[in-house]
Amino acid sequence: DRIVAPAADGEDTAVEAALRPKDLGEFVGQEKVRQQLDLVLKAARQRGATADHVLLSGAPGLGKTTLSMIIAAEMGAPIRITSGPAIQHAGDLAAILSSLQEGEVLFLDEIHRMSRPAEEMLYMAMEDFRVDVIVGKGPGATAIPLELPPFTLVGATTRAGLLPPPLRDRFGFTGHMEFYAPEELERVIHRSAGLLDVEIDPAGAAEIAGRSRGTPRIANRLLRRVRDYAQVRADGVITREVAATALQVYEVDGRGLDRLDRAVLEALLKLFGGGPVGLSTLAVAVGEERETVEEVAEPFLVREGLLARTPRGRVATPAAWAHLGLVPPQHGGT
Ligand code: ADP
Repeated sequence: DRIVAPAADGEDTAVEAALRPKDLGEFVGQEKVRQQLDLVLKAARQRGATADHVLLSGAPGLGKTTLSMIIAAEMGAPIRITSGPAIQHAGDLAAILSSLQEGEVLFLDEIHRMSRPAEEMLYMAMEDFRVDVIVGKGPGATAIPLELPPFTLVGATTRAGLLPPPLRDRFGFTGHMEFYAPEELERVIHRSAGLLDVEIDPAGAAEIAGRSRGTPRIANRLLRRVRDYAQVRADGVITREVAATALQVYEVDGRGLDRLDRAVLEALLKLFGGGPVGLSTLAVAVGEERETVEEVAEPFLVREGLLARTPRGRVATPAAWAHLGLVPPQHGGT
């Protein structure tokens, strides 16, 4: 597994619970979403009502699960956590919905990956707090209406555009989660270091933040690896030098590129003069599958402005040459 992967691995899952901010005040960054959510929740509390359904969109590791837990905590409500892929049949969803308590928060991660029949059941549940449970099969099947207690659905998706409009329209509020600025990640890192009881100086935190690809989950993971290094090879304190050396061991460079990202860039620059070159050719050159290059390496390279996808193929930007310390070839001669 890549150390810069945005999705959670086993260790993340075990450690993240301890690092999660517990209320909106502790939640770093995402000013807009936080302000908007603060209003939505305060208003619901004042009315003594259950909060509107909330949709959170954004890349993995930006804090969607954390926010859903904060929503429940701020409303003084219990929370149930599940995900679209875990709900294969409408019956699975009916079972969850019918066991919710009044005011409970239901967090549905990867909501865009739910099955169609479950999705349709969810429409009615969100709007009327009611589901029709189908009993029997064929012509004898009957729909038994079931009243549900009011609940708050918090749906999470990588992109709101992936949701069918009827589902999207049933959310009272949509929060778009952005990648974090380096200063925000520094705050996340200082906070986590405090909770993990690790000593870190500001330059050490800045060094880790700059390599964390805008993502708190990655920042926390890099912090843990740097802590190991600081403990074994240094005196336990994370300084800029300790962080930089440790992350060099893990092949994460100053901008957060890992071995695969750099292999793709290097092939593009050294073998193909910066492109344009087709995806398949580039993939063969780095000895990877097309999909790996396209889905794992490229999104971050594009986001960083190092690589462009053009109709004629992949092209390196001037920033890519600069990042690898190479000089682009001179064309034309004049
Ligand atoms: P997602 O559900 O979007 O994949 P999570 O909510 O699981 O992301 O967050 C991943 C990790 O990053 C958690 O351990 C959490 O502590 C941390 N994290 C995410 N957002 C923030 C934030 N705004 N402030 C502090 N820590 C955060």
